[in-house]
Amino acid sequence: MCGGKKDKMKQIKAFKCEYCKKVLLSRNGMSRHEKQCYYNPISHSCITCLHLSDEYFYKGRILTDEEYFTREEIFDDEKMINKDNEYLFDCENKVYCTIKKVVLEKLKTQCNLYEIKKN
Ligand SMILES: [Zn+2]
Repeated sequence: MCGGKKDKMKQIKAFKCEYCKKVLLSRNGMSRHEKQCYYNPISHSCITCLHLSDEYFYKGRILTDEEYFTREEIFDDEKMINKDNEYLFDCENKVYCTIKKVVLEKLKTQCNLYEIKKN
C-alpha cells in the first residue's frame, strides 16, 4: 500500500461469551455476563424459553389459525386477495409469551414461568 508502512496494531487477549457474540477484555466481566446472558439457559430468559412465540396480531388480537394460513396463501398467490382477506396485510408480527398471554415489549430473565426450549 502507499508509504509501505506497517499497520500499527497490538494483539490483545479478550474473552468471548459461549452463548452469544459478545467479547470483553475482562475475564471477570465475561464471567458475570455469561451468568446473565440472554442466550444462556441458566438466565431463564425469554430467548431460550419454550413459551416464547412469534405471533401475528391484527388490531390487538392474535390471528386465528385459519387467518394465519390464509395470510400465507395470499402472500404466495396474490390472485387470492379479496376484500375479505385484504386486512391480513395490516398484521403486525410480535413476540408473545404463550403462557402469560402477553405481548413482550421487553424480554426478561429469571422468569418464574421459564421452561427450557428443546431443539
Ligand atoms: Zn452472551
